[in-house]
Amino acid sequence: RCTMSSVLHRTLEWTPPTAVAGEGNYLIDHTGKRYLDACGGAAVSCLGHDNAKVRDALKAELDTIAFTHNGFFTNRPSEELAQFLIERAPSGTGRGRVMYLGSGSEAMEAALKLARQYHLERSEPQRSKIIARAPSYHGNTLGALATGGHAGRRGPFQPLLMDVSHIEAAYEYRMRREGEAETDFALRMANLLEKEIQRLGAETVMAFVAEPVVGASLGTQPAPKGYFKRIREICNTYGVLFIADEVMCGMGRTGSLFALEQEGIAADITTLAKGLGAGYQPIAALMAAENVIRIIKNGSGTLWNGHTYMSHAIATAGALAVQQVIEEENLLTNVRTRGEQLRKGLQTQLSQNPHVGNIRGRGLFWTVELVQDRTTKQPFDATRVLAPKVRKIALDLGLMCYPSQGCADGTQGDHVLLAPAYTSKRKEIETICDLITQAIETALAGLEA
Ligand code: PLP
Repeated sequence: RCTMSSVLHRTLEWTPPTAVAGEGNYLIDHTGKRYLDACGGAAVSCLGHDNAKVRDALKAELDTIAFTHNGFFTNRPSEELAQFLIERAPSGTGRGRVMYLGSGSEAMEAALKLARQYHLERSEPQRSKIIARAPSYHGNTLGALATGGHAGRRGPFQPLLMDVSHIEAAYEYRMRREGEAETDFALRMANLLEKEIQRLGAETVMAFVAEPVVGASLGTQPAPKGYFKRIREICNTYGVLFIADEVMCGMGRTGSLFALEQEGIAADITTLAKGLGAGYQPIAALMAAENVIRIIKNGSGTLWNGHTYMSHAIATAGALAVQQVIEEENLLTNVRTRGEQLRKGLQTQLSQNPHVGNIRGRGLFWTVELVQDRTTKQPFDATRVLAPKVRKIALDLGLMCYPSQGCADGTQGDHVLLAPAYTSKRKEIETICDLITQAIETALAGLEA
């Protein structure tokens, strides 16, 4: 390994270890150290790191055709994958269409632009405003960053960001009132959207953007029962498009192929990324429902947005193989079974800890939120960098997890996110529970020392 790296890494203070191999759900670095990947990097590697079927599909496509520009040609894997996704989309999506992109951020940008095009094609040019939630994360490109509600990530770039309204996310642990029924909480939080639409003027609002299960910004937060039904109703009433960001929570992560299936509604536009390609190739997608496609088909008939690598044959061939493996090997059942094991394990091993405030999640997507005081829910001061300490200790123990800061108010609030592979074995989930408990306890003991 060269010690002087020329790569602009996320930190310039040290060079990360070089990954040299992947064996199932383990990664191996240049020193031979093994890491159990309990977070898929960032909820990406849902099939582990050496899936033979996906590798074979990628090699076969490379030998067929690598790149053709989407302005000239289509290709087999992108057509087959689009059909696969449309056939399995939440009911209410209709005969939609799929657009492929290179990253979740790019998919979010494309979703916002498609929403704008939709309203222009319907002769409603005054509709340009976006409402999203806080906390949330929708990506790091400028449009996606402006849409996201994460104070820490937005801060340095604030002068460059377009104006987006943010309503509070349905953050059960901190927002649900004492004695409030789940459905009342759901309605109260969903109705914030209606109030904001009315405040802005319904005729000016273009889209509402939300993650069906909030990912890194809030830590695997599912919505209270009835929340998204009410959101759908409000969007319909005011002619606002609903964009579901399923970049992190989609493609099986929460136990169903689309996270929204469990809410009983469909979005107008859905973005997908991480679990779509499982990391074997960079790929994201946008799925537009039939009602959106119809307007464009009857209007200009063209898509007013394009990128060089849309519908890339190798990327879509990899993602198609990933989705076929998930379905053929019935892995969503494993997500639900191993997810339940993970929930129980975390609860058994951590819920008595006086600094564990909340354990939440769905499927194989779980979070432990750490607080200074369980009674007041007071977070640790951000300067104590608790979450990064957990990450470092876990890595030393040979476990990859995904801790973040900012869930409580954008800056404060530490949580540790877990997103193990859909192929996880019982023993691996046991190891994850043991090592994460050890990492959290050691980090907390370090704070008290
Ligand atoms: N949306 C959500 C919910 C995400 O979690 C992410 C990435 O973590 C993005 C969008 C952006 O995706 P990418 O990092 O691929 O640009």
